[in-house]
Amino acid sequence: MTESASKKAWTIFDAETGIGTRVVGEMPMFHPGRCRWCGSIYDGGKVEVTGRYSDCSVWKAPCCGNTADDRPQSWGGSFFPLTNAERRRLLPPGSSRGGEPS
Ligand SMILES: [Zn+2]
Repeated sequence: MTESASKKAWTIFDAETGIGTRVVGEMPMFHPGRCRWCGSIYDGGKVEVTGRYSDCSVWKAPCCGNTADDRPQSWGGSFFPLTNAERRRLLPPGSSRGGEPS
């Protein structure tokens, strides 16, 4: 697990609920999603895929090292894309809100 030391990780706190969520990876994220195993959020667009199957891709979660795949939750998947509302809360502390691309 020494490799993951170089990955950025921080905790964001939901302004409404006060619940902290660990975030692993760099912003902006292309496909932010939640890890089924540890509840962390990471970028599904930057993971290293270790296997591809007809119905899903498999990779190693950068947050906890468990095997993850992109099947729907009801099919036993382990990476759940965030809703738009959740994505908006993902901005790291100190970043300007909005973030219009220029
Ligand atoms: Zn995890």
